[in-house]
Amino acid sequence: MRVYNTLSKKKEEFVTLEPGKVKMYVCGPTVYNLIHIGNARPMIVFDTVRRYLEHKGYEVNYVSNFTDVDDKIIAKANEEGVSSQEISERYIAECQKDMEALNVRPATTHPRATQEIDGMIDMIQTLMDKGYAYDVDGTVYFRTRKFREYGKLSHKNLDDLRSGGRSLLVTGEDQKEDPLDFVLWKPKKEGEPSWPSPWSDGRPGWHIECSVMSKKYLGEEIDIHAGGEDLIFPHHENEIAQSECCNGRPFAKYWLHNAFLNIDNRKMSKSLGNFFTVREILEKYDAQVLRFFMLSAHYRSPLNFSADLMDAAKNALERIQNAVSNLSYLAENASASEKAASDIGETVVSEKTADDTQTDTGLGLSASEQEILAGAKAFEAKFDEAMDDDFNTADAIAAVFELVKYANSNLSSDNSKELILAVREEITGLCGILGLIVEEKEELLDADVEALIAERQAARKARNFARADEIRDQLAAQGITLLDTREGVKWKRA
Ligand code: AMP
Ligand code: ZN
Repeated sequence: MRVYNTLSKKKEEFVTLEPGKVKMYVCGPTVYNLIHIGNARPMIVFDTVRRYLEHKGYEVNYVSNFTDVDDKIIAKANEEGVSSQEISERYIAECQKDMEALNVRPATTHPRATQEIDGMIDMIQTLMDKGYAYDVDGTVYFRTRKFREYGKLSHKNLDDLRSGGRSLLVTGEDQKEDPLDFVLWKPKKEGEPSWPSPWSDGRPGWHIECSVMSKKYLGEEIDIHAGGEDLIFPHHENEIAQSECCNGRPFAKYWLHNAFLNIDNRKMSKSLGNFFTVREILEKYDAQVLRFFMLSAHYRSPLNFSADLMDAAKNALERIQNAVSNLSYLAENASASEKAASDIGETVVSEKTADDTQTDTGLGLSASEQEILAGAKAFEAKFDEAMDDDFNTADAIAAVFELVKYANSNLSSDNSKELILAVREEITGLCGILGLIVEEKEELLDADVEALIAERQAARKARNFARADEIRDQLAAQGITLLDTREGVKWKRA
């Protein structure tokens, strides 16, 4: 398996620190509002990375924080006249609802910055003791010049950054030794949450939070550190500086960054009026459609969000869902006919079973059915190959579509129930690795009914009356009757 590492700007072979185990940290959201669809991209993408690693047999310790102390949270609290804690708790709960809807599994641990202040003070103290940090009137800064490797992740020219940052020195933050020095601890202002420390009553800077939470829950050295590409500089660069100077060893082996989600080819922003929360989108689309949409592009490619592209995602996902429900129907039919046969006391030996030599699949399949199953399993290898290449979900989804096409054209109710269910499981299993739920819901939605009716019309046109009748029966089983009228096919629920 190969993964692209921002640190080396190359795809590298994935080798974990400890065999069979992955220690993974993903920077989580700052909780002052409902999450927007841009925030949902890293959540979905890295949840999928985790699921795939587990599918490969790794035990994954997945840590993702909530930043619950921040200027934006404090501003929102002041606006509403409530405490910062009330704001952050409210939006952590809302975020968890969105995650659940999107089938993003909870992390092994979701640490919150405000509950880890002691660890932050300890790490800052170590950095002070080692000469990597200095205190100016209660504000503690990190001394970037002392860390020779500063800039190794973002591959930036530090001299350019320094000269560009000179303005910072004259606009207020003039106590820093170097424009690239950043805050580890800052003294409180009136009305802000604060904690006592050796330097001042105050609060931690944002970057130190992740270094500390990653160390506490995963250890000094981890396998994967991930987040959106906007975090490469300065956030992740600063995390590396803090952790490596404090611990004296490399921080993370692989740095993974997702590209941004844009809206109608423009950056999403409140001022442009093209800002959408996940909640707003879920009023119009099923959460599975949003997840499918996010995975339809490679995570390192920019992704454009538009109504047309979401509609296309909806149709594509429905093709998979329809194939799965069709297989369920075929499987039901296969067992029903066997049962009917035994009920009337006939001994039915299917031609295939009689003619073909049985080999051991554990499913009791005939040789020809085993061949069909092997054909279906070939797409699993294609899927894995795509995912092994830096988690290429776009190509993995393409493999699922090939499998769907294969199932649609190779299976009918003449096949054994075992084969039909095994192929169905191939599809649902691969989708499951992507966190996509494609199993039928209890009741067919109107859109599903319409899609099946369209498929039946096409089957009739192609003189495939068996398939047309199958669809009519499948709909009848769900209490839906079809009426062929002069204006076309009408339908009603029983
Ligand atoms: P924030 O709450 O701004 O720290 O963001 C939480 C996560 O969402 C970070 O990993 C960001 O990089 C990511 N993120 C924010 N906006 C977008 C976007 N438009 N597209 C993709 N990822 C984003
Ligand atoms: Zn972080």
